[in-house]
Amino acid sequence: MASFRCPGCDYVYDETKGAPREGFPAGTAWDDIPEDWACPDCAVREKIDFEPIGVTQ
Ligand SMILES: [Zn+2]
Repeated sequence: MASFRCPGCDYVYDETKGAPREGFPAGTAWDDIPEDWACPDCAVREKIDFEPIGVTQ
């Protein structure tokens, strides 16, 4: 599983943890996140702006 970081506010989406408050349960793959999903912390950056920050074990 991988993590992705918002370049605007450093919010991290971790596939292992998901984002329950956003409606994505733990284990939700990045590919399953809607393309128009915006960062829940800053709401400025969208999925396409996020940067992969490597694979977690
Ligand atoms: Zn953000």
